[in-house]
Amino acid sequence: MNILILGAGPAGLMAAKAALGNGANVTLVEENHGVGGQIWRGESKLIDHPKLAFIGGARVVSRKGERSLLLETAGGGRTLAWERLIVCAGARELLLPFPGWTLPGVTGAGGLQALVKGGMPVAGRRVVVAGSGPLLLAVAASVQAAGAKVAAIVEHRGTRELARFAGALALRHGAKLGQAATLAWRLRGVPYLRGATLVGATGDTRLRSVTLRRGTGDVSIDCDFLAAGFGLVPNTELGALLGCAIDGGRRIVVDGNQRTSVDDVWAAGECTGIGGVDKSMAEGRIAGLCASGAAPGATETGARSRAHDFGELLARSFAPTNALRAMCQPTTIVCRCEDVTAARLTQHADWRNAKLQTRAGMGPCQGRVCGSACEFLYGWQAPAAQCPIFPASAATLAGAAPYADISANGSSMLSAGSVNHFGPDSVM
Ligand SMILES: Cc1cc2nc3c(=O)[nH]c(=O)nc-3n(C[C@H](O)[C@H](O)[C@H](O)COP(=O)(O)OP(=O)(O)OC[C@H]3O[C@@H](n4cnc5c(N)ncnc54)[C@H](O)[C@@H]3O)c2cc1C
Repeated sequence: MNILILGAGPAGLMAAKAALGNGANVTLVEENHGVGGQIWRGESKLIDHPKLAFIGGARVVSRKGERSLLLETAGGGRTLAWERLIVCAGARELLLPFPGWTLPGVTGAGGLQALVKGGMPVAGRRVVVAGSGPLLLAVAASVQAAGAKVAAIVEHRGTRELARFAGALALRHGAKLGQAATLAWRLRGVPYLRGATLVGATGDTRLRSVTLRRGTGDVSIDCDFLAAGFGLVPNTELGALLGCAIDGGRRIVVDGNQRTSVDDVWAAGECTGIGGVDKSMAEGRIAGLCASGAAPGATETGARSRAHDFGELLARSFAPTNALRAMCQPTTIVCRCEDVTAARLTQHADWRNAKLQTRAGMGPCQGRVCGSACEFLYGWQAPAAQCPIFPASAATLAGAAPYADISANGSSMLSAGSVNHFGPDSVM
């Protein structure tokens, strides 16, 4: 049995491990050169497995026929056929517009963490981490460990709401509470401002300071970086490309076996709904088992239920509140690819009209940033992904060489060139 897995984050890695354990041949495709996804980025080691092939630095951009995908690689376009497929495409950050959010030095919360993990030096630089949710603590701890001075963590939710969240963690997810306590200990001494909202970022050629509102008073903090995170949005484009049912444009729909609405296609991890790394791992394991012909046991389904419970708690506790809409002023740029302000967008009734009249969503991000922002700001449902689902070169679209037949085992795929075997110690 040949299984193609798209995405080498925790979900994809656990799916690969489960499927290999069940005797399947596995090909794992990942747009980054390394494995690990958002959370284990650059921290996973490579090992060899005779039935596993890894295609790194390859992004799926479109379909080429009924059961074949088009990949963009540094060496040009490649096609890849599949028999059984598991989508593990993860999530991206929800970026909400506020004055100054396009200044150099302002990033998403996870975005700054990714840059730091990728080697960007921040030693001695002052960082404000703002937004809402537990990711803020993880990001602040990462940048502090890299030598930055965290000037403040700015949490939109108030003390009472955070206490309720901690109480629910203590009752049902003690290990998570322990992780949060460890991060809080590492960040002791860093001002943790609760019930505070971003008013704006100011600077000249780059960010110089951030203004916050707490109650009725505003306060400004000088800083070099602002990492602003308001939650995550599932990456549904690959599911949509394959024709899978997507719930309200928000998540790939799966059944209890992680099976999508399309024959021989499963999905796992944040692309089926936001819930954290444990959810991704539990769902990945179940998808890998089911795609390779086995049934999940009580251990797997129990782990998934606990992880789903945690995901629901996260959503209840940290979903962006309506008050955050006030961050976006009429002159604030919402579509940063095409420089479209909020004032221009609010003249239109829906996303389609706004797009036709202003070009919002027609830049390189294809609405991945402003589409989610407009959904939050104006309640407009973002449009379905168009092919190619990511920007691709004309050469990729015009002609693509096939990878070796994936019905061969992993080793034969090595002859295709940019293919390596791998396996992170932590999960394989
Ligand atoms: C920027 C960011 C930082 C985060 N940091 C943390 C953290 O520090 N701690 C924490 O607990 N959680 C963090 N999270 C949450 C994190 O998403 C999950 O906990 C976990 O990584 C999810 O695993 P996953 O396998 O579902 O998705 P991911 O880890 O997102 O893995 C999905 C993989 O699919 C690949 N992919 C997607 N589309 C394509 C395509 N078209 N072609 C080829 N490859 C593709 C991506 O490159 C990615 O490697 C972060 C999320 C984001 C967005």
